[in-house]
Parts: sequence; structure tokens; C-alpha cells
Amino acid sequence: MTTETGIDTRVIDGKAVAAELRTQVAARVKEFEQQHGRVPSLTTILVGDDPASNVYVNNKHKACAEVGIDSADERLPADTSAEYLAGLIDELNRRDDVDGILLQLPLPDGLDDDALSGLIAPEKDVDGLTTLNAGRVVQGRDALVPCTPSGVMILLEHAGAELSGAEAVVVGRSNLVGRPVASLLLAKNATVTTCHSRTRDLGEVTRRADVLIACVGSPKLIDGSMVKPGAIVIDVGTTRTEDGLSGDVDFDSVLGVAGAVTPVPGGVGPMTIACLLENTIKAAEARASA
Ligand code: NAP
Repeated sequence: MTTETGIDTRVIDGKAVAAELRTQVAARVKEFEQQHGRVPSLTTILVGDDPASNVYVNNKHKACAEVGIDSADERLPADTSAEYLAGLIDELNRRDDVDGILLQLPLPDGLDDDALSGLIAPEKDVDGLTTLNAGRVVQGRDALVPCTPSGVMILLEHAGAELSGAEAVVVGRSNLVGRPVASLLLAKNATVTTCHSRTRDLGEVTRRADVLIACVGSPKLIDGSMVKPGAIVIDVGTTRTEDGLSGDVDFDSVLGVAGAVTPVPGGVGPMTIACLLENTIKAAEARASA
């Protein structure tokens, strides 16, 4: 969309990029089956009956089926003990026919998300949340990278972002999104600044960004006045509001300022599940060749 600035902001179509990735995964799954006589498999563990988690897990199984990945669904009551859950993870870690394990977070009160997801064998950790995988990402080494950060990097590639030497600003520093995104950008030789809730003048920093990644969870926090003309803006934020799903970026106000921007919904969201499928085939291939 062109405005008086003369900048024609490209809207990055996350759905299309995710569909392309799923097609590539489906081809790798077929090839894996031909070579190894079995299909890759993912086991999800859902504890409790949180409706949103239920939807996410169902969507993951549907997506697995679409690309030919076998998936198993472990559902446990909310009062499951940490010992029982640890025992189940241990069993799945040992099973040869299980390539990926996904523990749906958050766990019910009383169960420690970090401690329990940390028990997943790193080579089966398709969410990329274990300390070993997180550490490998920080060190710029090959890893099972967390799905949403992986999706952000693929979208940047599709947007034609020149990352080497670019000023990249990441707003948010969670272990799930902000920190791994910053590490991945650094590995691509960007000059990376991470902002967070204590950053003094957010706009002053974001206006320097050639590449701006918003992963906060604060609707419309970033408007056009905080964006450098021509910047590539990736909006990870998803907050449910009265008006529907909202990103961290005030989409309308960055049109005509940003060079490219992802919409919410339809930007980063579809990439997350596609990257989970990619991590599952990657884990299966790595285990088969180990
Ligand atoms: P989180 O753990 O709550 O982290 C939010 C980060 O934003 C924190 O680092 C926080 O700083 C920072 N922050 C808060 N207010 C700020 C402000 N005013 N200015 C600058 N930074 C601020 O959230 P998350 O798990 O990373 O998720 C972030 C968003 O992405 C959420 O909307 C979530 O729903 C969305 N998300 C989407 C997907 C997807 O598939 N599309 C996947 C994952 C997450 P401090 O560290 O100082 O507290």
C-alpha cells in the first residue's frame, strides 16, 4: 500500500510461506519413509483441560496428519503428579519409535514448566526449549530451534532482508521468543539490540532498526512513528482483545512507513506449527543417521 511517503509497504503472507514449508516437510517425510521404512512420529503431552491448549494440540495433530507425520496424543488429568509426568517423559525418551516429544505449556499449577520440559531428551525436543538446545542457539550452533523464532527467520528470508550488518531490534526477551530471535539474528551477522520493559525510550531504539521484531504481547505498542522508513517489521504479538486478535504493531499506522510487515493474524502464527513439523522431520533424520 503506497501513501504520501511513497513507500509501498509489502504485507508478508505468513500463510503462503507456511504452506510452502509444509510442502517441503511432506516431501522430506516421504523420502524418510522410503529410506527407513517408517514415518517420523511426534508425541504430544497435554496435562489438564485448558481450552486454548486443547485447540493448539488438536491443530498440531491435524498438521502432522497433513504432511504424513505419525502423531500420538497423551492426555493426562490436571492432578497428574510431577513424578508420573517425569516417568512418562523418560519412557518416551527411551522409545525408538518416538522422534519428537512436545509437552504443551503452560502446565497446571503445581507442575514446573521449566523443570519438566527440561527432562525431554534434547534430540527429541521439537519445541527447542531444553537448556541444551537453547544454549546451542546462543552459541550459533545447529540445534532444534524454538518454532516461533525459526518462523520469524524464515519470514525475514522471504521478505528479502539483508541481515548481515543490518541494525536489528528485538522488542521482548522471553526464552520462548525474544532471546532466541536475538541469537539467530546475531548468527546472521546483524547488529542486535534487545529491548524490554525497562528500556527507557523504546521509540528512540526502534527507529534505528532496519529489521524490527516485536514479541511483547502489548496490542499496538509500536506505531508508525517508531518505525524507520523502509524497515522490515515482524509482529509476533498475539493478544485477544474485544476487536479480535491484536498484534504488537499498529498495522495501519506502519503502512506507508515500513518496507514490509507481517499481519496479525496470518503472519508469524501459521509459521509456528509449520516449524514444529520441520523440527520433527529434522529430529527423525538426525536420530536415523546417529
Ligand atoms: P512474555 O514471556 O510475556 O515476554 C514479553 C516480553 O516483552 C518481556 O521480555 C517483557 O520485558 C517485554 N515487554 C513487556 N512490556 C514491554 C514494553 N512496554 N516495552 C518493551 N518490552 C516490553 O511473552 P512471549 O511468550 O515472549 O510472547 C510475546 C508475544 O508473542 C505474546 O503476545 C504471545 O502471545 C506471542 N506469541 C505468538 C506466537 C505465535 O505463534 N504467533 C508464539 C509465541 C508467542 P521484561 O522481560 O522486562 O518483562
